[in-house]
Formats: sequence, C-alpha cells, structure tokens
Amino acid sequence: MTKEYRKNVHLTFPPTISGSPVICDLTKMFDLSFNILKAQITPRKEGHMTVEIMGTKENYQKGIEYLEKNRIVVTPVTQRISRDEDSCMHCGMCTAICPNGSLFVDREKRIVVFDIDRCTACGMCVRVCPVNAMHVDAENGMI
Ligand code: SF4
Ligand code: SF4
Repeated sequence: MTKEYRKNVHLTFPPTISGSPVICDLTKMFDLSFNILKAQITPRKEGHMTVEIMGTKENYQKGIEYLEKNRIVVTPVTQRISRDEDSCMHCGMCTAICPNGSLFVDREKRIVVFDIDRCTACGMCVRVCPVNAMHVDAENGMI
C-alpha cells in the first residue's frame, strides 16, 4: 500500500494513559507508520510527543480519530507559537509548564527566554500566561 500522506503532529497524553502504547495501535489498526521526533513526560506525568505519521489519507484520519477517542490532544505542528515581547512581564509561570525547556529563566539577566527552535507548539504556555503574551499563529487549519 502506498503511504503517500505524511503529517507532523504534536500529541498530549493525559497522565492516565501516558506511557500506554496507544501510538503503536496506529500501525496495528490503521497500517500507519510513525517516527517519534520528540517525546517527554512532565513531572505531572502528562506525556508530550511530536510524531511524523505516514500512511493513506483515509487511514491517517481514522488514526487521528482513534487517538482523540483515547483522550489524546492532537495539534498540527505547523502551528507556531510567538511571544509578544511588550506584554511579557517575565513572571516565569510558563517556564514551569513548558515540557521541553523552550521557556527558561536566564538568572543572570533575570528574564524569561523563549527559544523558538525547541518549541513543539504544544500550546500549554498560552493557557497559563496571565497577560496573554504567548500566541498561537496557525499556519494551516486544525486537524
Ligand atoms: S507566563 Fe507570560 S508573562 Fe510570564 S514569563 Fe511566560 S510569557 Fe512572560
Ligand atoms: S508551546 Fe509553549 S509550552 Fe509548548 S513547547 Fe512551546 S514554549 Fe513550551
């Protein structure tokens, strides 16, 4: 079967199923292949994974529906996160929640640094920022 369709997505697993092999079901049930590009479990046991999924478009859509039924949040990676530098007050709240250290405190300069190259666009910082300094810039539609 041709696996002409491929897409990068970010998956957020709730703590109850973090570590369970739901992602492997994509191969068994829908004949999809996947490459794990990045994976991390936060101290709160929430799982984050950026994966490239390949297969037919129809099976890809079925696979995504299956993941969502299992309470996994699927976000297209083509969305980008930006920070409004004028609004950010460097409170540090987002650094506690960022799963891969894209937001971190520079202790010497006493500022919160945003390293966009490490960002997987999971969107968690957007939800916690008290002044809405973090924004999602969608480059395509949601899945
Ligand atoms: S939570 Fe918002 S205001 Fe605080 S450091 Fe992060 S981006 Fe800046
Ligand atoms: S979206 Fe925010 S919380 Fe998620 S990886 Fe990027 S900077 Fe960190």
